[in-house]
Amino acid sequence: MSEYIGDSIFSSNELYRSVMNQLDRACSIAGLDPNVADRLKKPKRALVVSVPVRMDDGSIHTFEGYRVQHNMTLGPGKGGIRYHQDVTLSEVAALATLMTMKCSLVGLPLGGAKGGVRVNPNLLSRAEKQALTRRYTTEISMIIGPDKDIPASDVGTDGQTMAWVMDTFSQIKGYAIPGVVTGKPVDIGGSLGREESTGRGVVFCTEEAAKILKIPMNQQTKVAVQGFGKVGAIAAREIHSLGTKVVAVSDVSGGIYNEKGLDIPACMEWVQKNGVLKGYPNAQAITNEELLELNVEILLPCAMENVITGKNAAKVKARLIAEGANGPITPEGHEILVQKGVVVVPDILANAGGVIVSYFEWVQDIQSFFWQENEVNSRLKTLMVQAFHDVHGTTEKLKTDMRSAALARAMMRLEKAMLLRGLFP
Ligand code: GLU
Repeated sequence: MSEYIGDSIFSSNELYRSVMNQLDRACSIAGLDPNVADRLKKPKRALVVSVPVRMDDGSIHTFEGYRVQHNMTLGPGKGGIRYHQDVTLSEVAALATLMTMKCSLVGLPLGGAKGGVRVNPNLLSRAEKQALTRRYTTEISMIIGPDKDIPASDVGTDGQTMAWVMDTFSQIKGYAIPGVVTGKPVDIGGSLGREESTGRGVVFCTEEAAKILKIPMNQQTKVAVQGFGKVGAIAAREIHSLGTKVVAVSDVSGGIYNEKGLDIPACMEWVQKNGVLKGYPNAQAITNEELLELNVEILLPCAMENVITGKNAAKVKARLIAEGANGPITPEGHEILVQKGVVVVPDILANAGGVIVSYFEWVQDIQSFFWQENEVNSRLKTLMVQAFHDVHGTTEKLKTDMRSAALARAMMRLEKAMLLRGLFP
């Protein structure tokens, strides 16, 4: 707020307020130029589109879609497309801001963007989802492209969705343009290792943090994972394969718990057959809320935002939390956890593996030269481990928590670039 204007149109959204609060905190800790900080609190550009779809029964339903380009100082916009019934323009703006910070933090030559359609994708048939995706892509086609803004998958979208985005954009231009989107199937220019990259990255960070906290990666260490989708299931599988005891996992159908540890590959097989975790044998049913408060050393929230708040943070028992989801902890919740001495590896670091391999995919598409999976994975690990230790170093130097340190680093890189480029006109 300044003397010239009132509150931003986005500020009614909880996640947006939470992200702005995080930026303010990091700015004051890092002593950033207030003009730069102010510019980073507003998205560069936001597009709202209407997406009419002919449903299978012949009726026409018009959905609302968004694409927000938060900042493009370092390169083209980058960020996923979310299909969820609760998506709003303000939520997308908040998530786009986090993408700017994420790309800057891990040193990518990319800016931050995000898109979304306000729809429950589980209620759509395949044909309806395809029609929705093609019309949405058409409506945002003038602002996306391999040099402009490169979407990817997010909550409610997957490789098939990205294939439709790629095809629609290519049909409009008249030739194949794989670099317009990442998270595509490998057969049309996707990268090996992209699908599993976010979950893998979460575990790379968790391992590094656990070393510092002297938490061993063995059966003594109990882990709970919220979310069993693209991020959570892989994170659970990877941390399980390191030898820890994953006692609980959950999805939209609820959670499952076994104090002796769950067989994660068997849970994945169950979900493949049954669609959801619910009903998995050899485990006790728990709620998503109960999972967060279990007696575990490590907690990985890999589902949605705002799940750990001022109301339940005091009941969280984990010593180490790595945010696989974007924004799972509110500022009030974070403050309580930090006071309790819980180490929180923030989203822009913990889940950056996805956008890192998206960057690799984009580079491969532009060069039409594709890498082996072990090259993708080892480059991912190098970047993640480096970013983790850089942030940890800043945490010690600034005597602050990891979230503020990560945001401070991200904003310092952006500040340098923004000051060099100068203010136009
Ligand atoms: N949706 C993912 C995220 O939130 C990936 C974005 C991307 O790869 O562009 O980080």
